[in-house]
Amino acid sequence: MAETEVSKSVLAFAAHPDDTELCCAGTLRLLADRGWRITICTLTNGGMGGFGMDEATTIATRDAEARESAAILGAGYRCLGGRDGFLYDTEALRIAAQDLMREVEAGIVIGHLSLDYHADHRAAASITDAATFLATLPNIPSRFPPLRSTPLFYHSSTLGLTDPLGYSLPRPHFFVDVTGVWATKAAMLGCHRSQAEVMRVQQGIGDFLGMMRRQDEAWGSQAGYACAEAYWQHLGGGFRKTPLIQTELRDFTLVP
Ligand SMILES: [Zn+2]
Repeated sequence: MAETEVSKSVLAFAAHPDDTELCCAGTLRLLADRGWRITICTLTNGGMGGFGMDEATTIATRDAEARESAAILGAGYRCLGGRDGFLYDTEALRIAAQDLMREVEAGIVIGHLSLDYHADHRAAASITDAATFLATLPNIPSRFPPLRSTPLFYHSSTLGLTDPLGYSLPRPHFFVDVTGVWATKAAMLGCHRSQAEVMRVQQGIGDFLGMMRRQDEAWGSQAGYACAEAYWQHLGGGFRKTPLIQTELRDFTLVP
C-alpha cells in the first residue's frame, strides 16, 4: 500500500478504561470528524479500579462505562481482557493486539509512552510496540490476513508531565490543539463515574475532570493553545515515519 493509501482507521490502545479519554480523546474526535474510523481498545478490564465493588462487578461496570464513552465518538470498543494491575507483555496479548490491528485494518495506532508513571501503562506500551511491528508478518498466527503496511505508530502523553523519576519528558514531537473539542473529552471522561470515586479515595484527587483540564492546559501552554494533547511518533527501525496525524490535523498541530 502506498503512503497515500493508508486505511483511515485509527486504533487507540490503553491499559485501562478511562486512559484513552485522558490521553488522546481530543485527537480521536478531530480524526473522526475527518472521516477516520475509531476503535478504542483496553488491554485490561480495569477490575481493580473499584471501591465498594468486587472485581467482577467492577469489570462489568467499567465495561459499560467504556462502551458509553466510546459511543460518544461513534467508536468501537474492545477489551483484550488482561488483569488490571497485573498487565504483562505476553505472547498471547501481543498476538491479540496485532490481531485487532489486522481486523480493523489500522492505519494509525496510538499507545502509551514507555516512560509512563504506571506499570500497566508501560507494559501496554511494550505490547503495542511489539504488536504494531508484527501486524504485517505472515507467519504470525492470526485469524486475519497481515496488514499490507505497518500502521503509523504514536505515543500519547502520560498523566503528569514527568517520567516515573520526576524528570521532564522528552520534548513532544507535536501538540494537537484540542480546545475546540474539549467538551467531547469531558463528556467521555464523565462516563467513567466509578473512577471519579477511585481517584478521590486512592489518589486524593477530588476533581477528576479538573485534573484532565489542568494537564491539557499545561501541554497547551507549551504550544500556545488553551488545551492540547502531546504526542511522540515512534521512529524506530522498521516503523514508518510519515507524519500522518500531523498532516491530517495540520490546522490543529504545532511541531515545536
Ligand atoms: Zn491507566
